[in-house]
Amino acid sequence: MAGIYIHIPFCKQACHYCDFHFSTNTRTKVPMLQAIAEELRLQKQYTGGAQVQSIYFGGGTPSLIETTALKTLLLLIAQHFSLGKDLEITLEANPDDVTLAKLAAWREMGINRLSIGVQAFQDSVLKDINRVHNGQNGVASVALARQAGFDNLSIDLMYALPGMNQAMWEENLATAMQLQPEHIAAYCLTIEKRTVFGHWLAQGKLKAVDEETAAKQYETLVEVLTAHGYAHYEVSNFGKPGHFSQHNMNYWKRGHYLGLGPGAHSYNGATRQHNVANNQRYMDSLQRGVVPCTVEVLTTKDHINEYLMTGLRTQWGCDMAWLKAQYGYTLAEEGNYLPQLVERKLALFNHHQLILTSQGKLLADQIAADLFVA
Ligand code: SF4
Repeated sequence: MAGIYIHIPFCKQACHYCDFHFSTNTRTKVPMLQAIAEELRLQKQYTGGAQVQSIYFGGGTPSLIETTALKTLLLLIAQHFSLGKDLEITLEANPDDVTLAKLAAWREMGINRLSIGVQAFQDSVLKDINRVHNGQNGVASVALARQAGFDNLSIDLMYALPGMNQAMWEENLATAMQLQPEHIAAYCLTIEKRTVFGHWLAQGKLKAVDEETAAKQYETLVEVLTAHGYAHYEVSNFGKPGHFSQHNMNYWKRGHYLGLGPGAHSYNGATRQHNVANNQRYMDSLQRGVVPCTVEVLTTKDHINEYLMTGLRTQWGCDMAWLKAQYGYTLAEEGNYLPQLVERKLALFNHHQLILTSQGKLLADQIAADLFVA
């Protein structure tokens, strides 16, 4: 089983926190989609003919793309890959792009899951982070998607945002609960250097939310969502039973996937490929019939560290017996580290499965790093 990710590298405007690859110059949408189609043809063997179980249009802003172009890509995928019967096809949509006409076209072409980039419902917060849409657009986009018949919706929310206090965060969660999406992805703001927020932070124009406030908002998030029947199945992801993201689970369980588009990366168990994160260079290269990527051959150390990094973020944790059997990885030299995690209620052992608690998941990246093979 494998996944296909298609990176659509265009946005209407740059959000102040965003570190993804995108361009606000949308004039090259048509040649870009041609280049992605070409990459798809060239890379069709990357996952070794495995059946595709999920397709994910991410970005950037896939909802900016003409529906006919999205349909062409899906038809091309069907032509070159064997598709699973319960194929999940997700499209990331920004609330301001969601119309009944687009929704009908998305459904007609087989898209059966939407991930809507709501982020917050307060206009002031959305303005502070430079989103294009307003709070009302967020609510309306979910209602329109329901009207169009979508029964698998995810919304993105953000916390630890400057200008959003605890009361506002609680208000956002309450609004989200009224909308009853099947899935919620809630991200803690991290300020990356090369973003507008990163520059403002360096210049002293922005004060980051302190760790205590961020931790309190995370705690509230987990409390509210679990009380409403969402499973906290990954640090930032919460789903109703039967509505976990198949595509993301494939990443976290280290399934194989092909990433298409500038900045996308792929994994087939032996190598990881990283496409150039530059629209023009990507298109120029594909015009010459060359996929512009760097190929990394993974070592045993990479496999162990990646398994720890992704596994500990999920509710399934890491199978330490499997790690030992597969790679000879043992924690003997780590001394009391694991018992201490358990004692501090950050982790528990279910047989040989190391699983982080909600509190532990907040520190998942640090804990994984502590366990990495050097
Ligand atoms: S819409 Fe998404 S990808 Fe585009 S700038 Fe904003 S956060 Fe980044």
